[in-house]
Amino acid sequence: MKEKIIILGSGESGVGAAILAQKQGMDVFVSDLGKIKQEYKEELQALAIPFEEEQHTAEIILTATTVIKSPGIPDKAPIIKKLVEKNIPIISEIEFAFRFTKAKIIAITGTNGKTTTTSLTYHILEKAGLNVGLGGNIGTSFARQVANGDKDYFVLEISSFQLDNCITFKPHIAILCNITEDHLDRYNYQFENYIDSKFSISKNQDEQDYFIYCLDDEVTMQYFNKANPRVQKIPFSYYKSISEGACVQQQEIIIQLNKNNFTMPISELSIHGIHNSYNSMAAAISAKLVGVRNEKIRESLEDFQNLEHRLEFVATIKGVDFINDSKATNVNSTWYALESMTKPTVLIAGGVDKGNDYTLIKDLVNKRVKAIICLGKDNEKLHAAFASEVGYIVDAQSMEQAVQMAYNMADKGDTVLLSPCCASFDLFENYEDRGKQFKRNVLNL
Ligand code: ADP
Repeated sequence: MKEKIIILGSGESGVGAAILAQKQGMDVFVSDLGKIKQEYKEELQALAIPFEEEQHTAEIILTATTVIKSPGIPDKAPIIKKLVEKNIPIISEIEFAFRFTKAKIIAITGTNGKTTTTSLTYHILEKAGLNVGLGGNIGTSFARQVANGDKDYFVLEISSFQLDNCITFKPHIAILCNITEDHLDRYNYQFENYIDSKFSISKNQDEQDYFIYCLDDEVTMQYFNKANPRVQKIPFSYYKSISEGACVQQQEIIIQLNKNNFTMPISELSIHGIHNSYNSMAAAISAKLVGVRNEKIRESLEDFQNLEHRLEFVATIKGVDFINDSKATNVNSTWYALESMTKPTVLIAGGVDKGNDYTLIKDLVNKRVKAIICLGKDNEKLHAAFASEVGYIVDAQSMEQAVQMAYNMADKGDTVLLSPCCASFDLFENYEDRGKQFKRNVLNL
């Protein structure tokens, strides 16, 4: 029987999957409950791929042999419930593209650090001259790239939502950066479900494959036995010494694998903070596993360009540094941002709280933060958590006001840090919009 692929959600991954499915000679139909972006509509039209928007027509969708679901659609969506009732297989675009590539896959998951570690790993492999693609949650979809011609390696950022709909996906190298509470609304508020999802990156790996993990991460270590027991496990740690894997000794990264050593002073890494030492160690281990030479790894870790909205330096104005960490949408990422601050800090935080436990950053706030500007529609929780920890805590109604207030409160030699701990949807379109507004207002001071 001819495969009939129905794609739910028509963003970059959905359109990429449609193109790949058509290339494989399958029947394809794309359905989006929202409006489809003009550029994607034109692309589907040009390829004569049928689609609908602003509706899911069940009579069509339920005729699928396989459904490819956008990671943004939750399992409780009515159309998904109907598909499950009818036992129609639902897979992610990652699973689908994986079925048509011969490339070795390096897949990166975790609560924080995925994009940085993925981009860094790709940067090293590309600089080493390997035929490598970058995909997953970043840039051009994995499926579109597979449709355009295979590679030897793909470095993929994989979210838990994508893993939830993987069946045969089998990365040669899997990196689990860390696990802290996030997205629990999508996991019936059960942290264990989210943890299971993250570990499932390893479920199909075998003795030839590698699972790279953080030995310092409490949750990872508590549930470590959930990882596939056959896979070769390689740890990295900032605090403990490690004989096979990566660690830090006297401010130097040391990687030992198969009796081959790699060393590099942390001060030479292009990205700063303990979290970025973790990301650098994980990326360097995977590069070594695919045979990249130490020299190339060192060079790449030195000249990697930091990503926008992640501890991004914006400007120094009258002696005050401004740093944009708008991507910090949970408490753990803000912890690392504060940890890396070396000057008295005015913190701009707030937004949509996903059930944050602020006690985790109380100590650091107490030590490093002189004032907090709350930038959210509902700032009550921030006030309750930090009123006794900082000299000033005030509310702002807009980014313009927040930046102005922060500037007024900061003295020469201080840092103003936007690291919100929260999602951005109450006052901004997304974290990019929030970060861009921050930068614009800083540069207008
Ligand atoms: P993700 O793609 O998982 O969201 P990013 O690399 O985009 O991760 O970083 C998201 C936020 O988390 C940023 O604020 C960044 O500074 C911070 N961060 C990056 N790496 C880590 C890490 N290993 N642990 C904790 N926080 C991190």
